[in-house]
Amino acid sequence: MTKTQAQPAPQAIARKSDNFAEWYTDVVRKAELADYSPVRGCMIIRPYGYALWENVQRALDDMIKATGHQNMYFPLLIPRSFLTKEAEHVEGFAPEVAWVTHAGGEELEEWLAVRPTSETIICSTYAKYIQSWRDLPVLINQWANVMRWEMRTRFFLRTTEFLWQEGHTFHATPDEAAEETDKMLGVYADLAEQWLSIPVIKGRKTEAEKFAGADYTLSIEAMMGDGKALQSGTSHNLGQNFTRAYEILFQDKDLTRKNPWQTSWGLSTRIIGGIIMAHGDDSGLILPPRVAPYQVVVAPIFRKDEERATVAAAIEKLLMELPPEVRVKVDWREETPGYKFNDWELKGVPVRMEVGPKDVQKEQVVLVRRDTREKAFVPVAELSERVPALLDTVQRALYERALAFRLEHTLRLDDYAALVAAFDTGDATDAESGTTPFVEAHWCGDPACEAKVKEDTKATIRNIPFDAPDEDGPCIVDGKPGIGRRVIFAKAY
Ligand SMILES: [Zn+2]
Repeated sequence: MTKTQAQPAPQAIARKSDNFAEWYTDVVRKAELADYSPVRGCMIIRPYGYALWENVQRALDDMIKATGHQNMYFPLLIPRSFLTKEAEHVEGFAPEVAWVTHAGGEELEEWLAVRPTSETIICSTYAKYIQSWRDLPVLINQWANVMRWEMRTRFFLRTTEFLWQEGHTFHATPDEAAEETDKMLGVYADLAEQWLSIPVIKGRKTEAEKFAGADYTLSIEAMMGDGKALQSGTSHNLGQNFTRAYEILFQDKDLTRKNPWQTSWGLSTRIIGGIIMAHGDDSGLILPPRVAPYQVVVAPIFRKDEERATVAAAIEKLLMELPPEVRVKVDWREETPGYKFNDWELKGVPVRMEVGPKDVQKEQVVLVRRDTREKAFVPVAELSERVPALLDTVQRALYERALAFRLEHTLRLDDYAALVAAFDTGDATDAESGTTPFVEAHWCGDPACEAKVKEDTKATIRNIPFDAPDEDGPCIVDGKPGIGRRVIFAKAY
């Protein structure tokens, strides 16, 4: 194996190591994932970006159904009175809700909310459907768009309108609801790790960071290429908070009437931002093969017309060698090979296949990995095995690389001054000194200590990890006894 040189991009993008934020926006726009819309904070998802989302969506939808859930659809508009029933919920969402106040040429008697999430309308509906323990559990999901008014927006990460799925379940016992909350967090973690090659930390959010109206919230948190955390999926145990407010009652087997226990869980187009930031490099995107719109791009190389014919015939033949499930794009655009290489590197296609007249003669192709740029000459006869194997290798290598990066930038600290210093990256723009860390530290459980860290460093507690070892220690802020394990402090998107 030899390494090929990094090629300059056909459209220059900012260097990831120079300016991460600018690099991110350049990649989104120049790889044609998304673009600005006439309404600030909304975005146009372009075909290449939407194909990526569809692959993520398909994988997750299969898992949601395999765990017993059914899809359904609720309306976009929610009556104002529905939204105001659960006090904590309305308070949490009030500043972000967009209202329809006029329609049909007149002011509406009751304003309608453009859904920020659907707990309220689902509870109002299921108050009618749930009567007996026989009606439980209810296990439903919807794929939808939602709107939360945002002041500072960024493609995929924070947009006023975004796409997501929201699961909603009702159960006859609290244990069942707790089990469901865990199970769906596990589904999100599997999606992130096995499909998107993004290692995640599963854990519980603090009270300050939980969903408005939940008993508790679980999350998966991933480290991005600049060291910041991305909350990549959340699962909420709502207890009976909403079912009480919405007067959902069922008759249990013991003939008493009870409010069911409820969960909700969501994963959004934000995860596309996660894929970009977890894997990309100075040349652009690097997509995990399992969700890449194209897994292999074929670049024909020729000078004369007769060479073109020879190469075209060879490509047609070798495509037959590839397993049908491999997603292949043959790039016949009238551009130089160098231009095409750069363009597909920018778009993050995991494997490039080069086919020229000499390769045809030798019955071989050149395969180049996007992640390492390693180059190999592969006999056409071996393609049916080598291509799927190479895609698997890239899939795993991306995960390993992201995990190594996270571990390398994770600190265990016990001293408050050290914690403040760790998050003080100053004006550094260099990749190394500019990478903000994950800090594992003890915390006493007091929201005031959490708030102080946020004020001093902008870092928050991302979650209380499930698989952190039990360990006693004094709170890094005020020295009071810790909660029995270290929590993760990080700056976050
Ligand atoms: Zn404390």
